[in-house]
Amino acid sequence: MLTVICETPGTLSAHERTKPVPRDNEVLLRVKRVGVCGTDLHIFTGNQPYLAYPRVMGHELSGLVEQAPLSSGLVAGDPVYVMPYLSCGQCIACRRGKTNCCAHIQVLGVHRDGAFTEYLSVPAQFVHKAEGITLDQAAMVEFLAIGAHAVRRADVKAGERILVVGAGPIGMAALTFARLRGATVTALDTRADRLDFCAKQLGVAATVQIGENDKAQLSALTDGEFFDVVFDATGNSKAMERGFEFIAHGGRYVLVSIVSDTIAFSDPEFHKREATLLGSRNATAEDFETVVEALRAGRIPDQALNTHRLALADVPSRFADLLDPAGGVVKAIVEC
Ligand SMILES: [Zn+2]
Ligand SMILES: [Zn+2]
Repeated sequence: MLTVICETPGTLSAHERTKPVPRDNEVLLRVKRVGVCGTDLHIFTGNQPYLAYPRVMGHELSGLVEQAPLSSGLVAGDPVYVMPYLSCGQCIACRRGKTNCCAHIQVLGVHRDGAFTEYLSVPAQFVHKAEGITLDQAAMVEFLAIGAHAVRRADVKAGERILVVGAGPIGMAALTFARLRGATVTALDTRADRLDFCAKQLGVAATVQIGENDKAQLSALTDGEFFDVVFDATGNSKAMERGFEFIAHGGRYVLVSIVSDTIAFSDPEFHKREATLLGSRNATAEDFETVVEALRAGRIPDQALNTHRLALADVPSRFADLLDPAGGVVKAIVEC
């Protein structure tokens, strides 16, 4: 079967591998669609802190069941999506239901080989039937779930003023679910094209481009009070530090980004606001269900978000193009 391997940062190549044989509790999938994620781009460029090469990337996948254990309730031909965060079920986080931050987490396409291939065998508890959504939509559930999880972490309420810093796919996912909860959303980014997309396709109330008087604009939008909840989805430590300035008194700050650096903030500024600082990592089954319901109800502009498509065989030659900001990529989907 055709498999695309990231050998070292910057090098992708196509190989023939033997089809996996599923273990007792595993479902064998025919991979059909794989979303390309910021994580994959970081693996490709060598900026993913939790990774050893060579690696088969790809964790945003949908497919058809080829073979499944009886106990899974799945049968051959079922369309499915996969929760790619393989959690241990035993650790402190898993025992508290926080499988998204399992102490021994194995993420497909990061800690173990992922979906840039034709067949994949996955433990049955992480495979879910994609009912009422297309295979394209099913491959988009994971990145949307990251946003849904961040919004649930912050417990965003109707009428709250929300700022999303970083209007990439994850920022777009967060602002979409904040909006679905009735919040008033502002997007802040360096790129005018992305802000334009947020305004036209995602219905944000306001956009501000990062520049000299961005803070004055954010202040004007909120009568000088700033935001009930600030989400950082920039992947940039300086931006993460600056985001503390945009929290309203009594507000929350959710760091969805991950960087390899230490970040620092002013304690008096943090304390006087009695701010709440939250990390948000991955997503749980509940968040995946929230996304599937929203997709089924037609509340997510998934076709607009899926800006690019490519075939698995073309990944080695075309993957680098997806990094070019001029291409306007939001979500690229690989067809296997
Ligand atoms: Zn992803
Ligand atoms: Zn665990």
